[in-house]
Amino acid sequence: MNEEKLSKRLETVASYIPKGATLADIGSDHAYLPCFAYLNGMITKGIAGEVAEGPLQSAKKQISKNQLTNALEARKGDGLEVIQPNEVTCITIAGMGGSLIRSILDKGKSKLRGVERLILQPNIGASTIREWLIENDWELIAEEILEEDKKIYEVLVAEKGSPQKPYQNIDQELLLGPFLLKEKSPIFIKKWSHELKHWERILNQLNDAEETTENRLRKEELEQKIEIVMEALT
Ligand code: SAM
Repeated sequence: MNEEKLSKRLETVASYIPKGATLADIGSDHAYLPCFAYLNGMITKGIAGEVAEGPLQSAKKQISKNQLTNALEARKGDGLEVIQPNEVTCITIAGMGGSLIRSILDKGKSKLRGVERLILQPNIGASTIREWLIENDWELIAEEILEEDKKIYEVLVAEKGSPQKPYQNIDQELLLGPFLLKEKSPIFIKKWSHELKHWERILNQLNDAEETTENRLRKEELEQKIEIVMEALT
């Protein structure tokens, strides 16, 4: 992967950047995504945000190597602290856990003024992001699921709007994704069949284990999720 040829995962994220956007890519690492987006005429300006010094230096090198310092800037900071309100129109956050993405959005709420689109690619825990989007008036407008190097990724795209709009059966759709559930692609079926087997194994172990309050709550939670997924897959 480099700034000319992204991974399938980041290419999917990039495909949702609106043309002419000003972009903040949070947790940018090598800044491949903003470099690719600028070199392909998708954005007019970009910020690569990084909390860690090593990746920040990689992002800076990448931007200089491509002679893009007039359009792209690497900034060090935690989450959305690297941008000002009304500075960007699109934010991408990719390759992290759903809880971390949620906390970055939540801590940086005041910086979301002027942002028209969020493109979020959690490695796990997409449901917690869907919950945050509903609670904060962001409407999920598209979802993608893809497989690369034997890993399955989800991409969530949201805009300010009617947060409840895509949802009809909220518990099921928060977990599985309203658009992904409707589409039920082979990758979706593969992901959730695998999760189902995993949860059933844990449930069997819990059934054999000592009956504690913690185990009982964990079992209830798993049984509920298994029911939701089985209903979706049948
Ligand atoms: N976005 C790239 C991608 O999807 O390939 C890089 C993903 S990499 C696994 C995660 C990056 O996020 C790391 O470089 C890490 O330093 C950065 N990161 C983690 N927490 C962050 C935060 N709170 N604010 C900014 N960057 C963060």
